[in-house]
Amino acid sequence: MSFSSLGLAPSLLNAVTEIGYDEPTAIQRAAIPAILRGGDVLGAAQTGSGKTAAFALPLLQSLLEKRKWPRKLHGLVLVPTRELAAQVGEAISKLAAHLNEPVKVVVVFGGVSINPQMLALRGGADIVVATPGRLLDLIDHNALHISNTQMLVLDEADRLLDMGFSEELNEILEQLPKQRQNLFFSATFPQAVQALADSLLHEPARIEV
Ligand code: AMP
Repeated sequence: MSFSSLGLAPSLLNAVTEIGYDEPTAIQRAAIPAILRGGDVLGAAQTGSGKTAAFALPLLQSLLEKRKWPRKLHGLVLVPTRELAAQVGEAISKLAAHLNEPVKVVVVFGGVSINPQMLALRGGADIVVATPGRLLDLIDHNALHISNTQMLVLDEADRLLDMGFSEELNEILEQLPKQRQNLFFSATFPQAVQALADSLLHEPARIEV
């Protein structure tokens, strides 16, 4: 199977080719068409499965199709650690660099000075990759608004809960618009993770690889 049968637009297919991916991974084959249909998606996937591109490609496609000016936050990707934030942000930026339109991806995480992140968010962002605590700090500083977010991605949801981000997640969820697409990825599904998925997702397409 090739990437061209998944419903991706030519600009995204071109990006995939230029980045050197020949064939979609299993999670990409299942998740990309489901995400492009616009509904919520629940994915059981490990790191190394190619799940970042599985959500990044449809996220970028939806941004290009629906973006508005002035720039409004389109996609919010929540991750448990700064390492994952940097890694996911870089993967999205690499794909975005092969598109014809500029896409502004901003990565924010705690444990470092907030000022450069506030500067980076000036003029808005298309996609923000964030750890939950620092995202809330930035919202408190009026550095970004998330009330227009079209797509929410929870990456490694089990680790988000393991690291104690449950309260922060709830605060973030309260500020998001009700009308949005939710993508939920986790390697494991203990009860707390399943409960979060149940409360967050509306009739999700379930994907296991
Ligand atoms: P991830 O699971 O998203 O962290 O991806 C793991 C690694 O697989 C990353 O280095 C990606 O660049 C790479 N990768 C993702 N999708 C593909 C693909 N379709 N073909 C080859 N490599 C890929």
